[in-house]
Amino acid sequence: MLVDRASAGTTDGIAVMKAPPGAYVEEPARSTPVYGSCDVLVIGGGPAGTAAAVAAGRLGADVMLIERYNHLGGLATGGLVSWIDRMTDWDGNLVVAGIGAELIDRCGPDATLGPDPDLWGSTDPVQAAYWRVRTAALRDTVHWSPTLDPEVLKLVTHDLVRESNVHTIMHCWVVAAITTGTRVEGVIFESKQGRYALTAPVVIDCTGDGDVFAQAGAAFDDDFDSETAHARLNTSFRFGNVDMRRYLDFRMLQQGEYAEVMKRAAEQGIKLLAHPTPYDSIALFLSPKMAGYSALDVADLTAVEFASRDAAREGLEFFRESVPGFERAWILDTASQVGTRHARRLVGRERITIDHWLADGGYADSIGLCPGMTPSFPTLEIPYRSLVPEHLDGLLAAGRNLSADTRAHAALREIPECWAMGEAAGVAAVQSLDDAVDLRAVDIAGLQAQLARQGAIVDRPQDHRKLRDPAGILEAELAGTIHHQRSFE
Ligand SMILES: Cc1cc2nc3c(=O)[nH]c(=O)nc-3n(C[C@H](O)[C@H](O)[C@H](O)COP(=O)(O)OP(=O)(O)OC[C@H]3O[C@@H](n4cnc5c(N)ncnc54)[C@H](O)[C@@H]3O)c2cc1C
Repeated sequence: MLVDRASAGTTDGIAVMKAPPGAYVEEPARSTPVYGSCDVLVIGGGPAGTAAAVAAGRLGADVMLIERYNHLGGLATGGLVSWIDRMTDWDGNLVVAGIGAELIDRCGPDATLGPDPDLWGSTDPVQAAYWRVRTAALRDTVHWSPTLDPEVLKLVTHDLVRESNVHTIMHCWVVAAITTGTRVEGVIFESKQGRYALTAPVVIDCTGDGDVFAQAGAAFDDDFDSETAHARLNTSFRFGNVDMRRYLDFRMLQQGEYAEVMKRAAEQGIKLLAHPTPYDSIALFLSPKMAGYSALDVADLTAVEFASRDAAREGLEFFRESVPGFERAWILDTASQVGTRHARRLVGRERITIDHWLADGGYADSIGLCPGMTPSFPTLEIPYRSLVPEHLDGLLAAGRNLSADTRAHAALREIPECWAMGEAAGVAAVQSLDDAVDLRAVDIAGLQAQLARQGAIVDRPQDHRKLRDPAGILEAELAGTIHHQRSFE
């Protein structure tokens, strides 16, 4: 479901103003009032940020969580990315747990679409076919990759931060980092109330886009692999008044007819895939994924907003006419957050690379796991050092702005891994304060033990320490994963 910029739709009416080179205005120097000080300051209330704040709050730290929008959950809620990627390995073992699993549990069965635990890892062809069209089977294996109701996920996330004594402030956009030398000491935000400073000995950048570490002068990567879905943008949307059972039966049982309809759609420039949700009357669209736009350019972001909604309107017309189950559909909503898969990635003390993952995927300072992209990949251990900047002190980066190369990042940016990284960052922050050591000197055994105590998983099973098929066809496999061209997501 990929679309190139040239065919993404018109950008007429979008102001792309280019100032003459060297044109600046001088702003007067000013004193900025301090809004507050705390032990651990988390910027960004997405999966990583909420897990970081909850983890630190539960350990007794004074935590502030700052979010620019009107809800928590980030892309998982406001971006409508309510299909949570795999939390099980290819054998059906749970490899991501902790706060993320707790959030899913709290959503409850009515707000969750996914297979029962006894089916995780099943390769039974009937089960795999049933769950494949419900985005919970990949390569003929059933996985725990549930789809949630994003509004319920907002509610349970709000509950969890309140219960964890986190001071949450919404409607605040962080615009600058406060630094002394190489030490980050806080941030400055803009809001309806004005411009304020927040100070803390530990700041955790969970903006997804690395806003804070970029403002603080950290080195970052922003390269991407243009052939993959990695750097593609779109604003997701949902159709209501759909009969998803009918649609899913059509897709599963009349595959030839379904392929024919989708081919006709593609010929008309409609590159959409309808995902199921917990509710039979609602379809979710996480496409079309648009290439050639930057998540850090406001004109590009605006163009994506226009093009995505045009795609929803054109898609609705086609689906109503041609796709069983969509005859009486309407546009239920469009996401309040633009869908950014990638912007900036920290240059951290350890940069996770696809080569290391293929070769072994193990790290002594593991703080969480990521299931192998294909059965040939080992389960990856996510190193704590990939959250620690190479040169800055007082800051961690968790979530999709971690330190990784583009191909490893394609899997590490998924919601389960962002929850896991956030939880680890929150625990590490408290440990560094309790032990009065720098973030880079945190006791790794202590960090791992605390994460395990609170239900997170940091160790992979013994037999996941090596490739299952060292002579396998890894490149070809990789090209077919969900994170690349033939993608659901
Ligand atoms: C279209 C699309 C489909 C996807 N599909 C899947 C999928 O099926 N399964 C899956 O698991 N993952 C999927 N992903 C990936 C996943 O949604 C994200 O990578 C994940 O949500 C990242 O979590 P995060 O906490 O790092 O960042 P985000 O979810 O982006 O959260 C960052 C938060 O920080 C806030 N913020 C940002 N900058 C500032 C600032 N300067 N000041 C204050 N607040 C700020 C934002 O408002 C946001 O709430 C998809 C992504 C996209 C875009």
